[in-house]
Amino acid sequence: MTTTRFAPSPTGRLHVGNIRTALHNWMLAKKAGGRFLLRIDDTDAERSKEEYVEAIRTDLAWLGIEPDGEERQSARLDRYEAAFEKLKEADRVYPAYETAQELELKRKVQLGRGLPPIYDRGALKLSEAERAAKEAEGIAPHWRFKLDHDEAIAWEDGVRGTSKFDPKLLSDPVIRRADGSWLYMLPSTVDDIDMGITQVLRGEDHVSNTAVQIQMFTAMGAEPPAFAHEALLVGKEGKLSKRLGSLGCDAFREKGIEPDALVAMLARLGTSLPVEPITDRTTLLDTFDLSTFGRAPAKFDDAELERINTAIVHAMPFEVAKDRLPNGMDEAGWHAVQPNVTTIDEVADWWRLVTGPIDRIELEAEDRAYLTQAAEILTWSDDPWHSLTDTLKDATGRKGKALFLPLRQALTGMNHGPDMGELLPLIGEAEARARLQRAAHSN
Ligand code: GLU
Repeated sequence: MTTTRFAPSPTGRLHVGNIRTALHNWMLAKKAGGRFLLRIDDTDAERSKEEYVEAIRTDLAWLGIEPDGEERQSARLDRYEAAFEKLKEADRVYPAYETAQELELKRKVQLGRGLPPIYDRGALKLSEAERAAKEAEGIAPHWRFKLDHDEAIAWEDGVRGTSKFDPKLLSDPVIRRADGSWLYMLPSTVDDIDMGITQVLRGEDHVSNTAVQIQMFTAMGAEPPAFAHEALLVGKEGKLSKRLGSLGCDAFREKGIEPDALVAMLARLGTSLPVEPITDRTTLLDTFDLSTFGRAPAKFDDAELERINTAIVHAMPFEVAKDRLPNGMDEAGWHAVQPNVTTIDEVADWWRLVTGPIDRIELEAEDRAYLTQAAEILTWSDDPWHSLTDTLKDATGRKGKALFLPLRQALTGMNHGPDMGELLPLIGEAEARARLQRAAHSN
């Protein structure tokens, strides 16, 4: 069964890049009728926070991305220990004693000589006696995974196509710190094996990790999953801006962005498919295909998201909107106001034109006389606005703006707004007449 995972580290809120990865993994699984797991990568006890774990769950729920299971790395430390022992027996991990400063110095020297900064395996060259001396000095080692330099690394990437790495051009990765804590690399591989992950879809910043992890899978006797690396998300200007890196669900929610808008946009951003205001997830799933993913960075444009959002709000059925509408607003109210808003939050402002109180607008004497006449003429029917304006047009000879604007100003206190034909029935006859009279007698 297709099984994917989204593996955030709970060291902060999800940002738009993570959200996209989560969504794509969910889509990959759901399209295949498979399972999508949430894996909390919380081996960094110091930086991981429970509030972020909660926020990740809340954000996924808001987006309608429901995991079929949740795992936590902090609950699986014994599994990593066991894998580590096995790799040690197989001579695939080794202790290293260099300090961070020593490593940095080595890097600088290599770069200075125009060489790639690959770890020189200094620790592997230590004799037993040298190693014993380090231990006697009380230096606790960190641990590296020993890449097999004879095993060429290649995979068929779901986005990038045939991908190859020469292991000699990679550093043996540090997998465990001197204090015994784990770095990302090994636990992730152990988890992917234990959880039966069949497809790993993540950002292209992980490509070289994949090369290393493929050797880890093999070293642990497992078949590597299929890998795909999507191009990174960048801002409109072409850079991964700080702002974009911090844009999370709460920021979108506060701006009135619908989760469906974010999903519709992120589902297709960076693919050859058009970004459209599609709220039906089945449609999005049907068209989702890694072969449509491009290699160029995907450009995230706020204005595009806002356009998608507006289109989704304009097409939103009352049933979907109703729990978030102002008290007492019925379907006719939603229908009247819907074309004038870009977010649901804006509805309340327009609805106040119906419930009042409305603003007062200063009018010329001529218009005030006109409104007195309107208050007298006003009769109620299914379509009071059109009977009122038709009658007034004949009676006064007014037309266009002169006919309509004073009425709108008197009835809503504004110069523009929702369609009066829809609004007037909602205001009601008595209130409408009162507003016309009040405006006629203002000043
Ligand atoms: N916790 C890792 C990250 O957020 C997971 C990467 C992966 O998908 O393997 O980068």
